[in-house]
Amino acid sequence: MAKSGGFVTMALSKGRILEDTLPFLRGMGIELIDDPEKSRKLIVETSDPKLRIIIVRASDVPTYVQRGAAELGVAGKDVLIENDSEGLLEPLDLKIAQCRLMVAVREGVDYEALINSGSRLRVATKYVKAARDHFANKGAQVDLIKLYGSMELAPLVGLADAIVDLVSSGKTLKANKLVAVEEVQQISSRLIVSSAALKLKHKLVQPIIDAFERKLR
Ligand code: ADP
Ligand code: MG
Repeated sequence: MAKSGGFVTMALSKGRILEDTLPFLRGMGIELIDDPEKSRKLIVETSDPKLRIIIVRASDVPTYVQRGAAELGVAGKDVLIENDSEGLLEPLDLKIAQCRLMVAVREGVDYEALINSGSRLRVATKYVKAARDHFANKGAQVDLIKLYGSMELAPLVGLADAIVDLVSSGKTLKANKLVAVEEVQQISSRLIVSSAALKLKHKLVQPIIDAFERKLR
């Protein structure tokens, strides 16, 4: 198990975070033994017997690291905002999986007028904490509706007046006749480290942080 000593576990999610983290590992001369996108294995050994990768849901990465099942992980800032940060350090912005958390409404809707109308805006989002802070800072009254996906649908069927969602190309918004009207936050993925592991396994963990850092220069 991860706790039993001589090796390090890094939690990654499939898709863009895994893909964009591999170059950092290659920079250390490390390759994965199996391709997690093809094999169904959730524990993937690497060419470094001291490092293994576990494949978890993007939003679960902080949990594995906080609870000591992994020493390190890569997680989107969106995920980190929604999670509590107890026991986590965020030493590096890896500048990968870049996108923006945005407010979007149906095409033709006057967002400013809607905000200024004084009536409570219904906002559907997976990013409840980020959205709550954003509208509170604007002094706007909102009812937040927690969704787990397909946020774009909510304004189309009258569930919400606006959504808060991640946007990169804007293609998904456009396909659903929505427009981004306001930025909530710039998002990128971060290297996260358990503060306990950094102390207890410093000799194994610090060199990995250093190697990621060197690749960023
Ligand atoms: P999931 O669907 O399980 O949330 P994703 O691979 O879609 O996993 O997202 C993982 C992370 O990648 C998100 O937490 C976010 O930081 C980032 N991300 C999500 N959507 C985009 C996007 N369209 N472009 C760039 N990065 C994104
Ligand atoms: Mg996704």
